[in-house]
Amino acid sequence: MGTELGNYKSVVSARCTDKEILKGAQDGGIVTQLFAFALESGIIDGAIVAGNGAEPWRPEPVVATTRAELLAARGTKYNLSPNMSLIKEVTRSYGMDKVGIVGTPCQMQALRKGQVYPIGLRDVGDKIALAVGIFCMENFPYQSIIQLVEDHAAMKMESVKKMEIGKGKFWVYGKRGQVVQLPLKVTHKYEQPGCHVCLDYVANLGDISTGSVGSPDGWSTVFVRSRNGDSVWAKAIAAGCFETQPMEKVKPGLELVTKLANEKITKNKKTLEGRATFGVGKGLRNPYL
Ligand SMILES: Cc1cc2nc3c(=O)[nH]c(=O)nc-3n(C[C@H](O)[C@H](O)[C@H](O)COP(=O)(O)OP(=O)(O)OC[C@H]3O[C@@H](n4cnc5c(N)ncnc54)[C@H](O)[C@@H]3O)c2cc1C
Ligand code: SF4
Repeated sequence: MGTELGNYKSVVSARCTDKEILKGAQDGGIVTQLFAFALESGIIDGAIVAGNGAEPWRPEPVVATTRAELLAARGTKYNLSPNMSLIKEVTRSYGMDKVGIVGTPCQMQALRKGQVYPIGLRDVGDKIALAVGIFCMENFPYQSIIQLVEDHAAMKMESVKKMEIGKGKFWVYGKRGQVVQLPLKVTHKYEQPGCHVCLDYVANLGDISTGSVGSPDGWSTVFVRSRNGDSVWAKAIAAGCFETQPMEKVKPGLELVTKLANEKITKNKKTLEGRATFGVGKGLRNPYL
């Protein structure tokens, strides 16, 4: 295909140098460190992140305006966090002119769509100062995560320290050191159905996008995409926020990222094609046409 990784200016393997951030981060702490740096240096006034909701592992979008609030939102919650729901409010009652936001590829698409076609989003588009995209193969409804953790992995939601999808497995890490791995064939039926028409794996529309795949454990793969992303990344590097390694030097490297992106896009294009002939003489809607 050749377009599966989107446009980018550079790609590296990186991790943040701040040990406190790294400790509770999902991977290399790229998202939290980028926002913390951007906040401290006045690039953003705050960032919309997936905070901790009332129920364990159910994220709630929040506007983080302090380093502590950013750190509290570290880690991947494998269920829907509608971060875009705050995009207008953050420029209104929060009064922000320089907004940071993290999100999955679909959320980056919503953000860019809102900037180009600002229906109901007057005076929002020019206030987006840093959009950080995270790679995403699929997401789950909250109920699915409860079933995967409590029924399949036999753990209590509140006793889970970390969840991770990687190396072909869904990993659940308990606070007392337990580790349960579920094969992905178990998790497939619990996926959010809307994810099956998604054609973006590596957040092609973020200023910067990051994920775990391609880099060693504890490190992240980072695509620097827009001119704005390039400028923020260069400043963060100059400030000593990140250690980096050339992508060609790390294993499994960009080859695996490309392979997984291709697999996602190919599979989901098939779903879209199937929708075209779903009924007798008529099909289901295709949002890309
Ligand atoms: C549903 C989902 C699927 C993913 N699938 C893949 C994958 O297939 N391959 C891959 O390489 N990486 C995937 N990731 C990304 C990966 O898990 C990490 O989020 C990413 O590498 C950032 O790590 P970090 O250490 O830089 O972030 P941290 O510094 O730990 O910060 C994580 C940030 O992500 C935000 N966040 C957490 N959960 C959500 C959510 N549900 N929606 C929106 N924002 C959220 C938090 O608010 C926080 O700001 C996925 C993430 C999600 C949410
Ligand atoms: S798979 Fe696509 S639609 Fe589903 S959460 Fe990830 S980016 Fe969004």
